[in-house]
Amino acid sequence: MSSTTSTDSDPAAAPAAPARGAVSISGAVREYGRGDNRVRALGPVDLQIPAGDFVVLVGPSGCGKSTLLRLVAGFEPPTDGTVQVDGAPPVPGHSSGVVFQQARLFPWKTVGGNVSLALKYAGVPRAERRDRADELLDRVGLAGTYDRRIWEISGGQQQRVAIARALAVPTSLLLMDEPFGALDALTRERLQADVREVDAESGRTTVFVTHSPEEAAFLGSRIVVLSGRPGTVARDIRSTLPRTDVDPDELRERRDFVELRAEISAAVKSAAAQERRGDRR
Ligand code: ADP
Repeated sequence: MSSTTSTDSDPAAAPAAPARGAVSISGAVREYGRGDNRVRALGPVDLQIPAGDFVVLVGPSGCGKSTLLRLVAGFEPPTDGTVQVDGAPPVPGHSSGVVFQQARLFPWKTVGGNVSLALKYAGVPRAERRDRADELLDRVGLAGTYDRRIWEISGGQQQRVAIARALAVPTSLLLMDEPFGALDALTRERLQADVREVDAESGRTTVFVTHSPEEAAFLGSRIVVLSGRPGTVARDIRSTLPRTDVDPDELRERRDFVELRAEISAAVKSAAAQERRGDRR
């Protein structure tokens, strides 16, 4: 599917230049407000994300994780510095697929209709959309649900549809902003395992925001800890945990997983303690 696993006959996966999902962030700052009310929400942040990395952004609440993700999505520009995806400023809806905390599906469309719409915007011909949508739904564990109504499926399933929709965007970059934050613990664990599997299959670049050290340790090939507001890169931790051929439950019990989680947790606490005083909310 999409640009990473598609065949030559796939029109949506044939960009002029090879899109690979590399992210380059240099001196990126984001400020809000004017005059005396001007507040720095983020930065300066320097971060190079090579294609294929699964970067988890973690840090204290309000440090600017979502702000940074919005800059990478191209939803807003940095006040200072640069953010590029594959060497160019990001274009919303084209440079990356995005999954938010709430699924934000169209309730008047079916499950498959929501995914098909994304395929339509991605330029996939009408005749191919049904098969591609079925394929994407299958990929996120929702095989056979194309004709179901959004209100007939659970919150966890809705979030799976949102992931399928993001995967429909023909780019190698996937951005996820606390996508499982509103789900119960068991559903969250299942979806985390699924995202890990999809990542191993697709080789996409992913930037995933969470405030949970557990989630960060489980998902990330690389964990970037942001300092307290305004967030800067406080720690950049490489995970040595296996990305493939590992049972998710066994992974969570491994000693190196438990150590990584503890290291991330300590780094986040230390980052929060260093939050600069005097910044207005
Ligand atoms: P996080 O995702 O780490 O919790 P956010 O990126 O949501 O943090 O927010 C970082 C800071 O920027 C917060 O203090 C927040 O209040 C502020 N902020 C975010 N968006 C805006 C905005 N549009 N206008 C003003 N302040 C904002």
